[in-house]
Amino acid sequence: MSKKVRVRFAPSPTGGLHLGGVRTVLYNYLFAKKNNGDFILRIEDTDQARYVPGAEQYIFDCLKWAGLEPDESPLHGGEYGPYRQSERKEIYRQYAEQLIKDGQAYYAFDTPEELEKMRQDFKTEQNPSPQYDHSIRMKMRNSLTIPAEEIKKLLNTNTRYVIRIKMPEHETVSFTDMIRREVSFDTSVVDDKVLLKADGMPTYHLAVVVDDYLMKISHAFRGEEWLPSAPVHILLWKYLFGLNAMPQWAHLPLILGPNGKLSKRDGARYGFPVFAMNWTDPKTGELTEGFKEKGFLPEAFINLLALLGWNDGTEQEIFTKEELIGKFSIERVHSGGAKFDYEKAKWFNHEWIKRTEAGLLKSGVRNLVTAKGVIISEEALLEKVIDLVKDRCTFLTDFYDQSVFFFKTPEQYDLNAVKPKWNEAKQLFFTEVIRDFELNNDWKEAVLEKDFKEIAAANHIKPGDVLLPFRVMLVGGKFGPGVFDIAEIIGKKETINRIKKALDAFNN
Ligand code: GLU
Repeated sequence: MSKKVRVRFAPSPTGGLHLGGVRTVLYNYLFAKKNNGDFILRIEDTDQARYVPGAEQYIFDCLKWAGLEPDESPLHGGEYGPYRQSERKEIYRQYAEQLIKDGQAYYAFDTPEELEKMRQDFKTEQNPSPQYDHSIRMKMRNSLTIPAEEIKKLLNTNTRYVIRIKMPEHETVSFTDMIRREVSFDTSVVDDKVLLKADGMPTYHLAVVVDDYLMKISHAFRGEEWLPSAPVHILLWKYLFGLNAMPQWAHLPLILGPNGKLSKRDGARYGFPVFAMNWTDPKTGELTEGFKEKGFLPEAFINLLALLGWNDGTEQEIFTKEELIGKFSIERVHSGGAKFDYEKAKWFNHEWIKRTEAGLLKSGVRNLVTAKGVIISEEALLEKVIDLVKDRCTFLTDFYDQSVFFFKTPEQYDLNAVKPKWNEAKQLFFTEVIRDFELNNDWKEAVLEKDFKEIAAANHIKPGDVLLPFRVMLVGGKFGPGVFDIAEIIGKKETINRIKKALDAFNN
């Protein structure tokens, strides 16, 4: 029987959740769902110095908004908890000790000053930042250089130490990445990474291997920036659990911005979001706008992320989550970087807004409009309005400007669009329109248009010359859907009132 598919997203709660992070979540999620597997969220908070309050809750919120909720997590529970590494502290030490016993790791007692001295003493032009590695370890204060008796004493007197992996010299570590295929590293170029820190916390390297093992992870997908750490992880797997138990790896390509790797700064510089949701840095108070608040639909957000580095081999670009689950395969993820194109992202959102039924957009639009003090008296009206204007909205937030005039009489007019060509004949025309509309007892868009055009013809006015003023009367500006549709929806009384009110403004 093959191993149950279990994948994980393992963020460190250090700040906003970047596009690349959500894409990693998405690929994990799609793979899990496609293979009837489990998707686990594990919080990797062992680096106390980088801990940011609020960041963990923010991650939960982002996943919830994007519709990518985990099956197991600190919030959702599960059989393999705790899912927060800081709560698993006691588990890791025994594995570090085991490695020491087996000769694959060692205690290192070097103080920060000694480490700094090492960096100065061994600095050369070819090697400007020497690492603690096979060429240096025998010159340092560790359990490979200090006699056993003395080690015991140091340990008994609670001397501060770390545990480091003893990287083998000139060994080749290879594995098959599901995206990059065969990947090999020469272990001589990798330093003796710290596995257990002086505060008793594991480093990421030890914790990730131990937890992937204990949580029975079958496939580990993560960003390409972790590729250089892979040889350390593979050796730890080999030493602790045997390579057979190891998950299959896939290192996902970088997401590129206008100049190289997409960064938070690119967002500020080019005016697009890079985080899933608004993130306020608790230290500086700086707010970074998210895709959600910018007005992206979660469906569009995951669709565009899925296509940043993957396609199904056809020209299809719009996919629902269900379609993605059906079609996704990790082997079809490209190994090269995927360029984020904001114009394309907007296109996805626009397409999704057009495709989404008004009923589903309703609550988002209602919140948006009522938050600005507009009162929506009729729910059914709102759906009609959404259907009329959604083709014009790139962002959910566009619904405000595109629909507010359905619910509120304009207070200002684009007079520049009307006044230069305003004249007595037009004034008389609208007076007649008011009279006609007042007698109307079939308030339908087609009837209104027919009457409007007949009155224009009778007055020798081109309908085109009075349609724009009519639009400005009802909307305030030169935009919006069909003007007779607007009139039908706002109703007879309101239409007539708006014409009267605007005539006063135009004649002033
Ligand atoms: N904690 C790592 C991060 O913050 C996880 C890397 C991995 O998935 O192995 O990205």
